[in-house]
Amino acid sequence: MKYAEADWRSRGACLSVDPELFFPLSSVGPAARQLNKAKSVCTQCPVRAECLDFALATRQVHGVWGGTSEDERRRILTRIDRQRSARRAKVAVAAGRTR
Ligand code: SF4
Repeated sequence: MKYAEADWRSRGACLSVDPELFFPLSSVGPAARQLNKAKSVCTQCPVRAECLDFALATRQVHGVWGGTSEDERRRILTRIDRQRSARRAKVAVAAGRTR
């Protein structure tokens, strides 16, 4: 995992920005502007991949991480979970195991 390497947090572009920017209350209305502003900081960030890896691995529910919103990470995690389930099912079938 990339996030386990070194101290990526100390290199985040958000260190010089108000942390509250990264925790909009929703993704609509004025909060949508806040969300986009936070995401634009992430686009300049040298540790964006590490940050997203961390957020996904630790299932961070709230806030903007690695340039993604809460909804976007939820969709990514759903896709990852489905892929893992499909892989496990394939292995079980190959091993002759069924439920
Ligand atoms: S990707 Fe965004 S939230 Fe993550 S460290 Fe960089 S600026 Fe901060």
